[in-house]
Amino acid sequence: MGSKKVSKIGVLTSGGDAPGMNAAIRAVVRTGIYNGLEVFGIMRGYSGMIDDDIHPMNSRSVANIIQRGGTILKTARSMVFMEAEGRKLAYENLRKRGIDGLVIIGGDGSFKGAQKFSNEFDIPCIGLPGTIDKDIAGSDFTIGFDTAVNTAVEAIDKIRDTADAHDRLFIVEVMGRDAGYIALHSGIATGAENILIPETETDIEELIQSLSEQEKRKKLVNIIVVAEGDKYGANEISSIVKKRLPSADTRVCILGHIQRGGSPTCLDRLIASRMGFAAVECLLNGTNNVMVGILNNQLHYTPLDHAIKAKQKISEDWLRIVKILAS
Ligand code: ATP
Repeated sequence: MGSKKVSKIGVLTSGGDAPGMNAAIRAVVRTGIYNGLEVFGIMRGYSGMIDDDIHPMNSRSVANIIQRGGTILKTARSMVFMEAEGRKLAYENLRKRGIDGLVIIGGDGSFKGAQKFSNEFDIPCIGLPGTIDKDIAGSDFTIGFDTAVNTAVEAIDKIRDTADAHDRLFIVEVMGRDAGYIALHSGIATGAENILIPETETDIEELIQSLSEQEKRKKLVNIIVVAEGDKYGANEISSIVKKRLPSADTRVCILGHIQRGGSPTCLDRLIASRMGFAAVECLLNGTNNVMVGILNNQLHYTPLDHAIKAKQKISEDWLRIVKILAS
């Protein structure tokens, strides 16, 4: 935390894109302008700071974007920003324009960069959790998660229709990197028979046993939702199942990048708007180096160094719910 007030702020999106980032950009720009700040859009994350790809924004620059996926500022991963020299170059470009505060919309990697930068150059940085993975502590929501889960749910519902028509077993892999939240939520919401996530040990013997019991019960349709970060990917699970249960008609579907795109859900638009608004208020009242989150429906501020280190834990309730409802 610090006490430096700001007059010109920059906003950027960094790391993986997430639906709802545009709603957050819009909120930052409009709240900044309402409060008499000059607001600059920085293109392609930290790369734009280094390449001086920085542009003044006004209320109209963010018209008609709240409903759009992706990010109008583009996003990127910048290796140059990992080096002290790259960050110095970035700072010089900000200083040239008098930019004295930043809002960074991204994941934990982007927050690591933000924290280093604000420690080195005394530019207050406020982070907004923009990631479909929901792998950041200090917020019940991350921008993009709800949209990604809804996309996965829509796809899995469709897969169940075709699985049902052919009496097939489908193994569906969803995104989430090291976190199992997309798999957990989409699996529960679609009534998946098994959900495999990195937070819990995947017991192959138990899985095979449950599938063979279901086969004996003539339960011919099965959906297994696998998180991409699970020890076994969908293809590996499929080849094990094919070997051990050759009678099961098994198919694999990897949902992939459709989970990143599309129009953000109402929830993602709302949380992105609320967080974007709060980020500018933080800069106005001299708060530094925090991530804005929402906990128990209240705005919550987590120091960036804590947000970087802590991962969001999956509650025991969810794990018990999965076991009981899928049986
Ligand atoms: P996602 O969770 O969607 O992948 P992320 O923000 O975690 O998003 P990263 O690729 O990890 O994505 O980080 C984005 C950018 O942040 C990097 O390309 C780099 O420019 C910067 N960054 C990450 N880690 C550091 C670090 N330790 N020091 C300086 N900059 C960093």
